[in-house]
Order: sequence, then C-alpha cells, then structure tokens
Amino acid sequence: LFSTVEQAPPDPILGVTEKYLADKRPAKVNLGVGVYQDASGRLPLMRCVEIAEQRLAEDPKPRGYLPIDGLASYTADVRELVFGADSPLISQGRVVTVQALGGTGGLKLGADFLRQVDAAATVLISDPSWENHRALFTRAGFSVSSYRYYDPARRGIDFDGMLADLTAAQPGTIVVLHACCHNPTGYDLNREQWAQVLDVVEARNLVPFLDLAYQGFSVGLADDAWVVRTFASRLGNLFCASSFSKNFGLYGERVGAVSVLCRDADEAARVRSQLKIVVRTNFSNPPTHGAQLVATVLADPTLREIWTSELTGMRERIKSMRTSLASQLAQAGVPEMGYVAEQVGMFSYSGLTRDQMLRLREEFGVYGTDAGRICVAALNENNVGYVASSIASVVRG
Ligand code: PMP
Repeated sequence: LFSTVEQAPPDPILGVTEKYLADKRPAKVNLGVGVYQDASGRLPLMRCVEIAEQRLAEDPKPRGYLPIDGLASYTADVRELVFGADSPLISQGRVVTVQALGGTGGLKLGADFLRQVDAAATVLISDPSWENHRALFTRAGFSVSSYRYYDPARRGIDFDGMLADLTAAQPGTIVVLHACCHNPTGYDLNREQWAQVLDVVEARNLVPFLDLAYQGFSVGLADDAWVVRTFASRLGNLFCASSFSKNFGLYGERVGAVSVLCRDADEAARVRSQLKIVVRTNFSNPPTHGAQLVATVLADPTLREIWTSELTGMRERIKSMRTSLASQLAQAGVPEMGYVAEQVGMFSYSGLTRDQMLRLREEFGVYGTDAGRICVAALNENNVGYVASSIASVVRG
C-alpha cells in the first residue's frame, strides 16, 4: 500500500529547531520557531493561567463532551475580544464564533466551510506569508496564489503592488490578510492603507479571511483588532481566525476559534449549522481544558487584569529587544538594520540572504529561517549582543 508513498519534506520551521537541538555549542540561539520567551530565555507559564489552573483543579469536574461549536462562555469571550464587547454586530446576532484547535484550526474550519460554499474560488495570500497558509488552503482544495506584499529592495511593503493585485482579483476571491503583526515580515499596513484595502475588498466583492494570531502583540488588545472591527463595520461577510496560543502562552493546548460575520441572524444560524458539520466530521467537538482556562481568566476581573498586564509586559519586552538589537547592530557596524526596531510583533524579516542565514547557523549557532526571518521574541539581555555581533560578522565579513 505504501510502496509509492514519497517522503515529504520536513516542516521548514520545525526543521530549524531540530538542527538547533542537535547543535552542541553553548552559545547557540534559536530564533527559528515563533514562541515567546521571557527575559531568562524560557517559555513562561503566565501567572493568570497558573491561577486559573489551580482554581479548576480545586473544583474538579467530570469531562463530558463540549457542544460541537465549543464552550459557550469561551466563544462569547472570543467574539467580544475580537469584535469589541459593545459591538452591535454581536447584539444583532451577526457573528458566529466556533471554537477551534488553535488559530490553525480556525483557518481550517473556515477553509473547509468556504470550499463547500464556493469550490471555484481562488485564495490569495500575501507574498510572503506564514508558511502554513498556502499548504492549508491548498489541502482544503483551493487554488492558492499570492498578492504582492514585501519588497526587499525597499525593505517594506509594496503597497501599490498589493492594491493592484487585489484590484485585479475576481469577485469572490478569498483574501487572507494578517490583521496585525505580519508573519514573517513584521511589517503591517498603516490605517490609511487598510482603509484603501477595505475599499478594494468592498468594491471587488472579495471575501476577507483575517488571521488574528497575535492580538495584543502590536499595540494592545483593542487596537490590534482594529482591522477586523473596521472591516466588520462595513462588510456583510468576513472570516476571522483567532488564537490564544501567543497571547495566553497556551500553544500546546490548541485554543483558537473562527468567527464568521453574517448579514443577519438568520444567515448566522445557517452558517453555524454548516460549521458544526465541519467540526463534527473532523474532530467531533473541541477539547475542554484550554477553553476553560481562558474563560476562567476572562470571567474574573482580577485575573483579567493580571492577563492584560502580563500581555503588556510581553509586548514591551519584545519592543525593548528590538531597540536593543538595532542599537547593538549599529555599534557592531551595521547601522542600516535599524528597521528591526520599526517592525512589529514576534518576527523580523532581517533582510539577510539565505547564504547569510546559513552562515549564521553554521558559524555562530544562530538559527533563523532560510528566508531570513528571526523571532525577536526569543531575544534576551544574555543573547542579544551575541546575535548582533554574529549578524555583523556575516553582513560585514
Ligand atoms: N496564523 C499565523 C500568522 C501564525 O503565525 C500562527 C502561529 N505561528 C498561526 C496562524 C497559528 O496559530 P496556532 O498555533 O494557534 O494554531
């Protein structure tokens, strides 16, 4: 049966971690994978999660199945965090939120549902995008192309190219947009540019699929949802995949969701019924633990306050590491890389070539992706100087 099964290539990002783990040099640094690390280089367990976990353990409950569309208090929380607690769209019953296995699961539920609705639609993703976008939508049966986004020559966004590509898209095209903290580049559109994108999406009747994997990592929880809320205030339909992997540090618990904006409550009921079939035929119903943790934190004003201040701490730490990397690069003779301080979110497109990234890895044990992405959220006071001097060596050497 399997004699003709081909060996699939390793995952490009997880493959970097495997190489990092095999490296014996003590100074090695893993800037490959997108996981936040604290000042001591460890993935933190957030205090709010620890307290919520204790509370759940003190009052143990039987583990029945959750409803197919998820824990109701959790999906209500997601809806409010993404669309705003006072959003009229929520009170009008226009937003359907279904619990999913991380942000990835939210994308996949949305993709599988969209494929039922319009099998012939094309999906457009940014060039470049998170590695899994293309694979996920292709596996869901779509043909996937890209719109221009990053311009290496200008070290920034090719906004005219992006608008031109969106304007040329057929009506009904599904456009995957990073709502904040663009992965992998770290470059986000400004609000005026988003307004122009929205004009095109509306005029061309495109279907926006907003990926909100980093809410709270750019400016703050509400600001980072601005794109979703602005699009939602003008459009009849949109999709948003969201995740608590990063902003709750719940990577392995797989806590995410997909929210679908509908034209009215009747449409929302029909959409929900179809999304439930997608869930039912894939994993039947979602897991309880992560959703309960999030719902416990968000239901308690004190825990919620702890969460937002911890999230602010993570965001600020990343920003200060960006500033520190930029200034140490300047001191090491690479002042032209000041843009790392301007980018946002967990990642930076370093602007280094593939050869330079390989030299960083081989000569210095500093691991980023071949395409030049580094995870600035893995920098700390102890490794930032070494990373800066290593980059300087491969750039100047
Ligand atoms: N979208 C983007 C842009 C991401 O960077 C990630 C995580 N790396 C995801 C979605 C998926 O997140 P999750 O781990 O919650 O599935």
